[in-house]
Amino acid sequence: MAVERTAAVVIGGFPLGESDRVVTFFTRRFGKVRGVAKAARRMRSKFSGALELFTLGELVFFDGGRSELVQVDHFDIERPFGGIRADLGRLGHAAWMAESVARLTAERDPHPAMFALLSLALAAVDGGASPSRVAVVFGARFVDALGHRLRTDACVLCGRGGVIAGGRAAVDVDAGGTVCPSCAGAVGGTLSVAAATIDALRRVRTARWGDVMALPLGTAERELRAILEAHVTRLAGQGSRAARFLREVSRSLPVSEAP
Ligand SMILES: [Zn+2]
Repeated sequence: MAVERTAAVVIGGFPLGESDRVVTFFTRRFGKVRGVAKAARRMRSKFSGALELFTLGELVFFDGGRSELVQVDHFDIERPFGGIRADLGRLGHAAWMAESVARLTAERDPHPAMFALLSLALAAVDGGASPSRVAVVFGARFVDALGHRLRTDACVLCGRGGVIAGGRAAVDVDAGGTVCPSCAGAVGGTLSVAAATIDALRRVRTARWGDVMALPLGTAERELRAILEAHVTRLAGQGSRAARFLREVSRSLPVSEAP
């Protein structure tokens, strides 16, 4: 039985039997790994509190090779990211990021750049950056890292340029990018966004992290969120629980405080 050690973030989990817990980690060396933490729900568990969602730590596990589930031996907290639980907006956006990684990555498919992106994004939310901005930047880079970058240079259906008309553009996440006005009219169901939102999408993919957090995006940020949420939903095959949670939170708050 191999013993493995890697940096990891808790991205999900559920109770198992009387006192165990199945935990989903996104790890630096192995990508997504699911493991059983024995007796994790007992009062005096050696994991006491370490297996909370979003916690970054050092994971040590036994891999028997026979089952998809590994055995979690230790998880030593490096950063608990407790600030994420300070308000519902932070929690909702961070949950959307963790859930997206949990649903759209394959087990044992290493992706160190994606691990770095998730850690950076969680640290930013924990540190008080705008959670909505972090989620947009994370989302744009995450779908790119998965190999599903939306095309924005031409119509993905007919290949023609000139996708901007009257300062607006149509995006078809099923087709994989922008569509021209005539194709948008023919297929229907596209997202209509400002041309500035397409520019913003290009910038959030490539700008330096510190710069992108300070970019004045205005209403483009909300439209970007709509595009990315639709795209992730399409890739996952269904809507995320975190996105539903965020919609409920926004409805219950005055507009100025909506996450
Ligand atoms: Zn077209």
